[in-house]
Amino acid sequence: MMGSSHAATGVAAGAAVLAGLSWAGAPIGFADVAFGGMVCAGAALLPDLDHPTSTATLSQGPVSAAASRGVRALSSVVWRATRTPQDRGGRDADGTHRHLSHTVPAAVACGAAVAAAGLWWPALALVVWVVFSLAVRGLVACWKDRRMRWAEASGAALLLTIGVFGFGVGPLVVAGMVALGMVVHVLGDALTVAGVPLAWPLRVRGARWRMVGAPLRFRTGRESPVEEVIRWGALGTTPAWLLVGLL
Ligand SMILES: [Zn+2]
Repeated sequence: MMGSSHAATGVAAGAAVLAGLSWAGAPIGFADVAFGGMVCAGAALLPDLDHPTSTATLSQGPVSAAASRGVRALSSVVWRATRTPQDRGGRDADGTHRHLSHTVPAAVACGAAVAAAGLWWPALALVVWVVFSLAVRGLVACWKDRRMRWAEASGAALLLTIGVFGFGVGPLVVAGMVALGMVVHVLGDALTVAGVPLAWPLRVRGARWRMVGAPLRFRTGRESPVEEVIRWGALGTTPAWLLVGLL
């Protein structure tokens, strides 16, 4: 799926989960639902750091490009270490794109790393700022068919980051939304023709990196009407979740 669709499904899922928790009596306020939803939107772009030209890879210039190379190298190492003779390694046959970063254990590990970053506020602020810069890029791309300038996305992300600390959104909400956003990305890609290694590290019919997906899958991209419906459907539900968070 496109980055904009991942961001749209991320913000809807994050806001829905937090609104549900708030409604069930958890100590979650409107600011948690609003900012948490935005964290989820940005985190829903993170798995595509394993692609050389994704929004996440291009977002911070040479820094995110280096992060992408690191993610691809790590993914390839883990793929080689755990593959079976049935695993092909994806498009480049080296276990990079749609491999390690597109797994549920990777989402859980990133969530745990963010929770650890929460012990030192400057580290948490950096993580939140990076994730918000992705959220802003992804959500703006739902309307405008152009890449945002670095200063625009970074400035908006900075204001949102100040909001997180100003309204006291807790590190566990941020960590949970990072993990959820990555899982939402994986589930979104599971709706596409290529599929994702959803069961890793478990074997499915002899393969540990078997690309699985929903029974009904669709082609991705700008011309895909199904992706358009998913994107606008997700965005359309988000105000309702914010409203629940407000009550
Ligand atoms: Zn992906």
